[in-house]
Amino acid sequence: MTTRAATGPGLDITAIRKEFPILSQQINGHPLVYFDNAATTQKPGQVIKALTDYYSGYNANIHRGIHTLAEKATKGFEETRVAAQHFLGAREKEEIIFVRGVTEAINLVARAMGSRLLKKGDEILISGLEHHSNIVPWQMIAEEVGASIQVIPVSENGELDLSALDTLLSRKTKMVTVNHASNSLGTINDIETIIDKAHEVGALVMIDGAQAAAHIDIDVQKLDCDFYCISGHKMYGPTGVGVLYGKREHLEQMPPYMGGGEMIREVTFKKTTYNDIPYKFEAGTPNIADVIALNEAFRFISRISKDSIRRHEAQLLDYAARQLTRLKGVRLVGTAREKVSVQSFLVDGVHPFDVGQLLDARGIAVRTGHHCTQPLMEHFGIEGTVRASFAVYNTQEEIDAMIEGISRIKGFLQ
Ligand code: PMP
Repeated sequence: MTTRAATGPGLDITAIRKEFPILSQQINGHPLVYFDNAATTQKPGQVIKALTDYYSGYNANIHRGIHTLAEKATKGFEETRVAAQHFLGAREKEEIIFVRGVTEAINLVARAMGSRLLKKGDEILISGLEHHSNIVPWQMIAEEVGASIQVIPVSENGELDLSALDTLLSRKTKMVTVNHASNSLGTINDIETIIDKAHEVGALVMIDGAQAAAHIDIDVQKLDCDFYCISGHKMYGPTGVGVLYGKREHLEQMPPYMGGGEMIREVTFKKTTYNDIPYKFEAGTPNIADVIALNEAFRFISRISKDSIRRHEAQLLDYAARQLTRLKGVRLVGTAREKVSVQSFLVDGVHPFDVGQLLDARGIAVRTGHHCTQPLMEHFGIEGTVRASFAVYNTQEEIDAMIEGISRIKGFLQ
């Protein structure tokens, strides 16, 4: 049994770390320093336990069964829907659709909404900060219907230049889709302004919340976005599960994304009628265990509180940026005023991949490369960066270990 850390201000990070079994190991003879949280966070004991409890205690398919195990599994699954509704501030639980993650959520909307909403000559507005998963699905649908993609430009410090919105948005704009926070640079985007301006021209807005869910309070009703999506694995939950929020009016209009069991009302060889939302979009046996365990990730975050998580991570980010800046030959990439705890950087004369490998030899996990944002890297004229991203269980001492590691790299390579 893992111990549970207390909540409130002044987090007990030592206790929080004890909740994450993976963190207590050595990598290459050094204590693991895990700074790849923007790729995926580690999982607390309560999430892992929910998975094993399901498989060892009540594994059964949901919705269709009337036996005890099926009822228990269905209850757990549907409880997560209500938890997700509250986590995102949605009006109704029917507006919550379980998907594999943000990638699937965006593909679902691009396909289902795009095929109905878009026609030749229409425009889809994205931003220069987008992950490939918020670029490619839109390119695919745009190509199919003859629409085009417009891009909000990125300034030197990694913020979006929203002054361009007035020229980019027009009655031709049917869909605006941007991330809440950038996975490569950490920039928190002013999505309130983007949503308001997009709605003024009648466009719908989708927000990719992959990098926001673990850090920023989300209230989809207040934001008034049309769609919002998150991935469980980036917020202390399991892989292979995510949530798509959509306003009821849109979800009801949208055609299904996949056909199969569960998403139907009645099937004949002549015609099939579809189930109500959200089930219309949940064809087949879903990822039951991971949906149930996702609820524990929501519980973990609300126990620690996003406010406390954000404050702790802001201190780490600020400390890391200051220490990295002090190193000769290190350049920060992404210095927006509002950021989640992601810091990209470059070490003069050393390929990011080599920095990553040399840090790994000291037990420090960072990510290197283009972070699935090739257009953004191209904008900065670089191939990629080294990216350190922090979570609630990280410490200043771990940043010191990374700084020590980087400061030795140059000598190492000579
Ligand atoms: N958008 C952003 C901003 C991301 O960081 C990621 C994951 N790196 C994705 C989308 C895709 O998320 P997933 O792989 O969980 O579908």
